Amino acid sequence: MSDNRLEIDCQHGRGIASIICIHQLNSVDPVGFIENNTDPDDLQAWCYACEYVYGQEGDRTEKFIKFNNMRIVCEKCYAKFKTLHSID
Ligand SMILES: [Zn+2]
Ligand SMILES: [Zn+2]
Repeated sequence: MSDNRLEIDCQHGRGIASIICIHQLNSVDPVGFIENNTDPDDLQAWCYACEYVYGQEGDRTEKFIKFNNMRIVCEKCYAKFKTLHSID
């Protein structure tokens, strides 16, 4: 849809760049999955711990950005992490 969507090369091949936090990338146990943007061309999510720090900071401060330590994955990886980390 949008012209400025970012694509990355992943183990799945070419995918749409999507953003998750370092905790979601590294944890094999569910850490929560809070989506901040559900635009399929610009997916973004972070975990409960990140949501907590974000709440404390009130904004995407330097402290939050360091804690969040965002990582870019493809949309297939994003879907996989979403399944793994969604708690309800
Ligand atoms: Zn996190
Ligand atoms: Zn991928």
